[in-house]
Amino acid sequence: MAGCELTPEQIEKAVDFHGHWCPGLAIGLRAGEYVLNHMGRAEDEEVVALVETDMCAVDGIQSLTGCTFGKGNLRYQDHGKLAFTFYRRSDGKGVRLVFDANRLGSPDSEFTELNRKWLKGEATPEEVENLMKMRQERTDDIMGSDLTEIFEVKEPDAAMPHSARILTSLVCEACGESVMESRTRRLEGRTMCIPCFQNQG
Ligand SMILES: [Zn+2]
Ligand SMILES: [Zn+2]
Repeated sequence: MAGCELTPEQIEKAVDFHGHWCPGLAIGLRAGEYVLNHMGRAEDEEVVALVETDMCAVDGIQSLTGCTFGKGNLRYQDHGKLAFTFYRRSDGKGVRLVFDANRLGSPDSEFTELNRKWLKGEATPEEVENLMKMRQERTDDIMGSDLTEIFEVKEPDAAMPHSARILTSLVCEACGESVMESRTRRLEGRTMCIPCFQNQG
């Protein structure tokens, strides 16, 4: 078992960025580690990430790989899966990493139940302490395991997303705000942004 080979500095930087250390961040860091090993770092948008969750793990990926939301080389699709696809622009090489969710516990496990209570603010101090211990155990497991043990390594489901972000803007005829042309809607001959279209449609 190899375990995580990231440097303490790489891990610290990600914890700083995310705000806390948690199993989700560990999952993102390990996915990022796989990418650094196999595709290199995403300078100048060389690597594109497609994430299917919007939870903690994504911050590990952003901090480590250089695939960030703001640069446009991090795409999000709301599938509720701990699945991360990476593409390298130079040669189109891609990989889809699917985290083995069993490592966090089954839906009816004590861990899941405690998490739920804790998020609702209903956990007793004793339960919180217990939960934190379990979170640490899972984080240790994720960091200590071989990458191929925690991720199923697959071919990407789809082709690489387009790189060019079209910057042409139009003005929404309802609110007057500028909006990317590709995000406009038409209603009764008027050009609108998505929120205005939804309010009036
Ligand atoms: Zn977190
Ligand atoms: Zn509008």
